[in-house]
Amino acid sequence: MVKLPAFKPEHYPLLIPVGKKQWHVVFYDKLLGGDLGYCCQDSKVIGISRDQPPEEMMNTFIHEMLHAVEFEMGIVVGHPKIRKIEAVLGPIFLKMLSVTTAR
Ligand SMILES: [Zn+2]
Repeated sequence: MVKLPAFKPEHYPLLIPVGKKQWHVVFYDKLLGGDLGYCCQDSKVIGISRDQPPEEMMNTFIHEMLHAVEFEMGIVVGHPKIRKIEAVLGPIFLKMLSVTTAR
């Protein structure tokens, strides 16, 4: 079986459309308090810590995107559901995107 290259921070988009708004994706070496990510509604920024394994980083990215969707759509998904969704979508996205970057 061919091992896929790790999906790295530089492969993530810097700008993502969430509904009708553009959100920025910003990476940090570390976040205060050991947080893995954040989502700021006012500045439309999703912040991601580089200080986590690639699998966890994708889950964090999906987690924060879901918060952005909550803000932009005016809905509440809530952390229990967000954690379940990120756990399912993370490996799928990672597999899709790793295949894309391997070409
Ligand atoms: Zn959260």
